[in-house]
Amino acid sequence: MTESPSIESIRRAVEYADLAALRIAIFQASGDAEIGRLGPVASLEPERRARLIDRCVELLSTELGSWSLRTPSDEELHSLLEMVLGVPTPEGDFELRNQVLSFDEFPFFADWPSGTPSETDGFHVAIIGGGFNGVATAVQLEQLGIDYTVFERRSELGGTWSIHTYPDIRVDTLSASYEFSFEKNYKWTEYFARGPEVKGYLRHIAEKFGVMPHVRFEHDLVEARFDDDTQLWNVTFRLADGSTTSRSVNAIVSAAGLFANPKQPDFPGIEAFGGTVVHPTRWPADLDLTGKRVAVIGNGSTGVQLLARVAEMAGHTDVFVRTPQWISPRDKYGTHVEPETRWLIDSMPGYWNWCRITSIMHLFNFHRDFLIRDPEFEATGGRITQTSENVRAFLTEYIRTETGGRQDLIDRLMPDHAPMVRRPIVDNGWYRALTRDDVELVTEDIVRFTESGIETADGAHHELDVVISATGFDIVKYLWPAEYFGRGAANLHDRWKEETPMAYVGMMVPDFPNLFILYGPNSQPVSGGVALPAWYQMWAGFVARCLTQVIENGHRTVEVTREAFEEYNRRLVEESQQIIMVTEETSKRKNYYVNERGRMQVNAPWETCDYYRMTSYPDPEAIVFD
Ligand code: NAP
Repeated sequence: MTESPSIESIRRAVEYADLAALRIAIFQASGDAEIGRLGPVASLEPERRARLIDRCVELLSTELGSWSLRTPSDEELHSLLEMVLGVPTPEGDFELRNQVLSFDEFPFFADWPSGTPSETDGFHVAIIGGGFNGVATAVQLEQLGIDYTVFERRSELGGTWSIHTYPDIRVDTLSASYEFSFEKNYKWTEYFARGPEVKGYLRHIAEKFGVMPHVRFEHDLVEARFDDDTQLWNVTFRLADGSTTSRSVNAIVSAAGLFANPKQPDFPGIEAFGGTVVHPTRWPADLDLTGKRVAVIGNGSTGVQLLARVAEMAGHTDVFVRTPQWISPRDKYGTHVEPETRWLIDSMPGYWNWCRITSIMHLFNFHRDFLIRDPEFEATGGRITQTSENVRAFLTEYIRTETGGRQDLIDRLMPDHAPMVRRPIVDNGWYRALTRDDVELVTEDIVRFTESGIETADGAHHELDVVISATGFDIVKYLWPAEYFGRGAANLHDRWKEETPMAYVGMMVPDFPNLFILYGPNSQPVSGGVALPAWYQMWAGFVARCLTQVIENGHRTVEVTREAFEEYNRRLVEESQQIIMVTEETSKRKNYYVNERGRMQVNAPWETCDYYRMTSYPDPEAIVFD
């Protein structure tokens, strides 16, 4: 779009816009009383909404040139937040929401406690993994001037976005909420960016923020061993040619990822199968599915995302579903960002910032809406909560519509667990693909593979050329397969095997000083309220808060006390007893958020603002320096 767009294109921009975010951005810039009265947007009746759109168009066409981005005072922010959300922001949530809004340059990140950069005196941090988490931590350390190296086992950055190249891969949350808040307004081409664009974004971040010169590719961590005498970690990597190299570092940040270890079920007879078995993490570049008889096993986010494209290419597709899931549509999925929208994001001060709040505000009370029973509502005969029932009704209807009312499919696709107790799955034409003549839904259990296909419990044999095993990941294999030996050669994997994977605030384990695990056990509160990259920034900020104290105060190590670790995990288990994904059999079963011992594994039962405080103000009673 040109510098001075026509009134028609401004109107289109407003019509495509996130109106709640735009209204507040314009109000913040103009103080226009009428805009102030026309809200909150979610409950506006059609006439007043139309008037709001008109007023936005008028102001954008006449006053935009005089507006600039201004960081609001706390008092103003409270009032703007109330205007957009329709309710006051509790004091406990205010700082977190302020960070989410990102008027600061580097939200969530830490600075030197003394305010001035310290001499780092050769202090060196090894970051393991060049995915989103590793790069976020690298940018944080770069800001502080702490030396680091990113060791990446592959030959490019991207992590899960490098590993996955299956058909139609893309983010299933808005691209705009997938961006770091220290790089404001990336020019995404699609509302839900495709894999290569996401990978390109991460490379852009690494280049822009000076991370690239610190990256060592094809360095696969084999072992990390803490030396009790030197108080340093010795890290050993396997290189591409099979040789190994070692070095000493002061601290390790493992950003190896939650989805690092693919799960390939040990189906009987699989080794005798004459066709090809593919896990989506190892998609062969030359895999030709044209005319082939293909099976897709699994209906998690991956299996659901790739099916429609696979079915278009294949001659016949069998879709193996063991547990039906709630699969939901997303507005603007598959849509390009319109030039008018791009212009609005680029031109309207504060619009990008307010979109960060409005795009996640439906998640603010995620646990209360979906995961904790409302006894009053249940006493009236409802299940879980009113919101849970509403979403169940909406998604049930969605299944009916998308399957064209086919009762044979509907009967076998209706989940028996409550919505949102598992990781939400986004529809990419999955239900519609099941209605194709050349696609068959198979819900009988897989008994075994044969030389030419798969046999199911009903005795049927499915002839196959290619099996796509979208069977997920070994989530509990944190840090795997690298070995970690802490103080007194304590073995982390042995300990976790015995106890179950546990950490303090998801990141620290006693006897493993100066080791931080990102996306470690229980590192994401269930209560929602921030988008994924904000967690990465929060975790990086915590690491930095610990390490700056080590350096500034001349310490050598930072570590969680055993008492604090145990008390934290005791409370975690206790608090999680109110969350239905742990207590309700249908929600718990085969849910990777819960491990085989029935313990909440990926999430933590905390309010997000409480977790934010734990990482932003590390507890001096829990974390000790030596
Ligand atoms: P997943 O959610 O763990 O799903 C695995 C699927 O395989 C399930 O349907 C599971 O059935 C099935 N399965 C596993 N073992 C089986 C067996 N022995 N026999 C039959 N079926 C079996 O894994 P995923 O789909 O790869 O997704 C993992 C995570 O990756 C997602 O939750 C999401 O966080 C992330 N992801 C993100 C995106 C995105 O943003 N674009 C895309 C893909 C993935 P049961 O349910 O019965 O166990």
